[in-house]
Amino acid sequence: MAIEHTIRSIGVARSPYKEKFAIPRQPGLVTVARGTIELDNDLHAAEMVDGLDAFSHIWVLFLFHENLEQGWKPRVKPPRLGGNKKLGVLATRSTFRPNGMGMSVLELNKISIDGDKVKLHVSGLDLLDNTPIIDVKPYIQYADALPHASSAYAMEAPVAPLEVNFSDEANTALSTEPDDAKQLIKEVLAQDPRPSYKRNKADDKVYGVKLFDFDVKWQLTSLTEVHVISIERIKDTAEPSTS
Ligand code: SAH
Repeated sequence: MAIEHTIRSIGVARSPYKEKFAIPRQPGLVTVARGTIELDNDLHAAEMVDGLDAFSHIWVLFLFHENLEQGWKPRVKPPRLGGNKKLGVLATRSTFRPNGMGMSVLELNKISIDGDKVKLHVSGLDLLDNTPIIDVKPYIQYADALPHASSAYAMEAPVAPLEVNFSDEANTALSTEPDDAKQLIKEVLAQDPRPSYKRNKADDKVYGVKLFDFDVKWQLTSLTEVHVISIERIKDTAEPSTS
């Protein structure tokens, strides 16, 4: 008989990715993506992380919380196969799974402890902002890195096929931001985040994606080029409106 067991989250991810669209398919594809994992302060978090800073990388287990309500199916269409061939869900990294759990190896850059506020500073993440974290474990090189393993349809990292250029307006908007912001936008768009059936197809649609607190508008100008049209700061909707 199936065992039922309740899981509580132990913290939350803070990430530049504010919506699912355009998040890389695996960690490490956009290494400049930096974020934090904020551990809940009712868990003796400072004690929980004692010794973790000696590890360069961690496994982060989390819930695909935005997809939980949609359930799952035993067969799915991985985007890596063009989105038109089905495989068993357990043969994929689909985000629609029986328990909705994700796992990512992330670089651990620093741990900051301020009273009972404990933050793991990580990079290369593929997690949505506010993702609930359910566990963190040290990455153990001798056991977890298997360079000769075969990985079926995912032997190589997907190539980022597109060149990215910025309008003057977009460059001006970014001129006061840290260099990382522009680099992240570049690397995210270079992967061609459009649905997989549009790969290598011309398309004049203007797309929008939320990264950091920006709304980034972009468009394909050729089969190999993305043009960033504008970058606008998203207004904080929590603030009272003056209009
Ligand atoms: N490395 C993980 C995730 C792979 S799928 C694993 O293998 O388990 C990566 C996709 O997860 C991203 O493209 C993003 O769209 C999606 N994702 C990330 N955080 C999510 C969340 N909290 N809820 C739903 N989908 C999420």
